[in-house]
Amino acid sequence: MCGIVAYIGDKPARPLLLEGLKRLEYRGYDSAGMAIVNGDLQVVRSVGRVRVLESLLEQHPGMSGTLGIAHTRWATHGEPSDRNAHPHTDDPGNGHGIALIHNGIIENYRVLKTYLEEKGHVFNSDTDTEVLTHLIGELYAGDLEQAVQAALREVTGAYAIAVICEKEPGVLVVASKGSPLMVGVGKDEYIVASDSSAIVAHTTQAFTLDDYAVARLTRDSFRTTTVDNVPFSPQVRDLEFNLEQIELGAYEHFMLKEIEEQPAAMRRSLKGRVDAREGQVVLGGIADFARELVKAKRVIFLGQGTALNAALVGEYLMEDLAKIPAETDFASEFRYRNPIIEDGTVVIAISQSGETADTIAAMDEAKRRGALALGLVNVVGSTISRKTDAGVYLRVGPEIGVASTKAFLGQITVAALVALFIGRRRFLSAEHVSNLIRELERIPELIEKTLQQSDRIREATARFVERENWLFLGRGYNYPVALEGALKLKEISYIHAEGMPAAEMKHGPIALIDDGMPVVVVATRNSQYHKVVSNIEEVRSRGGHVIGVATEGDTEIARYCEEVFYVPDVVEPLQPLLTVVPLQLLAYHAAVLRGKDVDKPRNLAKSVTVE
Ligand code: GLU
Repeated sequence: MCGIVAYIGDKPARPLLLEGLKRLEYRGYDSAGMAIVNGDLQVVRSVGRVRVLESLLEQHPGMSGTLGIAHTRWATHGEPSDRNAHPHTDDPGNGHGIALIHNGIIENYRVLKTYLEEKGHVFNSDTDTEVLTHLIGELYAGDLEQAVQAALREVTGAYAIAVICEKEPGVLVVASKGSPLMVGVGKDEYIVASDSSAIVAHTTQAFTLDDYAVARLTRDSFRTTTVDNVPFSPQVRDLEFNLEQIELGAYEHFMLKEIEEQPAAMRRSLKGRVDAREGQVVLGGIADFARELVKAKRVIFLGQGTALNAALVGEYLMEDLAKIPAETDFASEFRYRNPIIEDGTVVIAISQSGETADTIAAMDEAKRRGALALGLVNVVGSTISRKTDAGVYLRVGPEIGVASTKAFLGQITVAALVALFIGRRRFLSAEHVSNLIRELERIPELIEKTLQQSDRIREATARFVERENWLFLGRGYNYPVALEGALKLKEISYIHAEGMPAAEMKHGPIALIDDGMPVVVVATRNSQYHKVVSNIEEVRSRGGHVIGVATEGDTEIARYCEEVFYVPDVVEPLQPLLTVVPLQLLAYHAAVLRGKDVDKPRNLAKSVTVE
């Protein structure tokens, strides 16, 4: 949520900030704005996309300087509008020329606002952010770093902020708590951003700001302290991906690029972690906790959105392969329902970004109550990876499309590896593990084969794309796939879709089925195949049109379906890795056919860093 980028150095800040905003736009696109200090403070901001800001900036040719901040917003407090767009400034005309951008929520903004209004501050927006800007202004006594520290000691909530002040034209102050912020360290320059995608073009060296950390940057030096002014040294490290990975290349959309990257992404997820000959799974990130994991009495998977659907597959895998009772919960619900954590409970937090606020809060709560916490995340060095006891990275490369695709595959792959890692140490024979590893290693190639049907899937989708209500059904391992198929369709094409266990349909939702309603059924060959075929019959006899996802060679099923997409046969626990692929393509084509903005669907943002 919200993209932040800030620059101090010897180059013109404006083009650099604009380019950074374009890379971060997937995080939010309600409004965009920029502030530059060059003598005085200049601010330009507008509701709408970064391209609107870009054309607005053309009317300000004189706005240049080597110190600036920029923001792309996902609104939490106050509607998307010009006046609510960041950067916010302290009392214009009356203040110190301070401008601030913020990602997160200042939870106690109301009391602070009342206090500041009594002191004579006049507010120009409905945001929580502006309150923090005024508070810094109120506390400013000639030293921006000190004022920021003092203000942050008064606020509760989450923030990643960047602040500049026209009275200190050589200083950029940034800080974070609960929202991600990374400082790229260049030669005589620093570029600060919500994530490394806005940094990699300029430097490969960076450090992440921990909670309650404040950094004061000048062109050629920096100092890091806590909000209580205790100095510390951050760990500067190499960024782990390159520019090419975050560029569209020949693709029209990141989502399609990322769907097609899935075979390569999965190969990277597996690389060096599996040994089919020995029947071994090697996971350095959790090896130190092997004893605790083997003795675990209960595993709780936590996630939101697509990660929650992957978590559900993880639950099935954990029970099936490791024989440990497992359950899945929305992180947001788990956190607030006074959860019971007994000895031997392991919590597994799943998140692409590793910054999902709900998941972080739930994982913190579980840890506080004594659980061992593992993280399955994609972004190296992210908050979840730092806060959990141990974890396994997805290694699928940067995911830019707001609708998650390759991360889902990576999450399932890694969950399978964790289940095999534990299972082998409990009951699974080396031979059984070897067989599953061989099967896992085959899957990237089978995904490649499945992707070849893209054109056919587009044609089939075109037949149904005008329909406003869809159902997605699956059983067992393919039930989470049905959820994911429905979520993908909702997210990017705005078609109403519900995913559910195929058997659940007859307990209520079957009433929705009318003539020609598209019902997507995952009906691959597995232990529940015949039951699913019966569910297909139930749909058909009420006039629904079935779009099947079936096992290659199953020509019989075509008799019951309007359309069938085939996937190669694999063992049941690994089927989601293949069956989800046609559903991702279906959602993608539906959105394109409906003329929607695939990579930036309305109201959504990637990496949901507010609760
Ligand atoms: N709360 C701030 C606003 O509404 C920032 C939102 C965010 O981080 O997504 O403007």
